[in-house]
Amino acid sequence: MAVTRTFSIIKPDATRRNLTGGVTKMLEEAGLRVVASKRIHMTREQAEGFYAVHKERPFFGELCDFMISGPVVVQVLEGEDAVKRNRDVMGATNPADAAEGTIRKTYAESIEANTVHGSDSEENAKIEIDYFFKPEEIVG
Ligand code: ADP
Ligand code: MG
Repeated sequence: MAVTRTFSIIKPDATRRNLTGGVTKMLEEAGLRVVASKRIHMTREQAEGFYAVHKERPFFGELCDFMISGPVVVQVLEGEDAVKRNRDVMGATNPADAAEGTIRKTYAESIEANTVHGSDSEENAKIEIDYFFKPEEIVG
């Protein structure tokens, strides 16, 4: 299996509860390596651009409000089959459906405030990494 990269966000519900380390530990224990990381407070324009694929969904406005309600930590993760590996450790979107031992089962507050974002494909991972990071900010 090839070593690949994916994009992760530790969402405002997690930074508010001081869970940056806890979430990162679970990512690392799942075999992912943090090769870029920065704490930012997204602008509304950044959040709307990032989630543009969801703009027709009824929760789009609230989702953007939530994502700018506090700081987030954007990260590039590297590992074997990184996209799937990260989705597996994240767990289901709704924490009520998430498996034991996943980040969302452990930490998420609700279907919206669900602690982490993770790219859903290699193609989107590249787009999302480019959205937040310059190449020189990623050190593998
Ligand atoms: P995932 O983050 O698991 O890939 P989606 O891409 O479907 O899930 O949704 C993006 C984000 O939108 C979710 O992580 C969550 O924060 C929010 N979201 C998804 N579904 C709902 C919903 N029904 N109500 C409110 N927020 C939602
Ligand atoms: Mg998604």
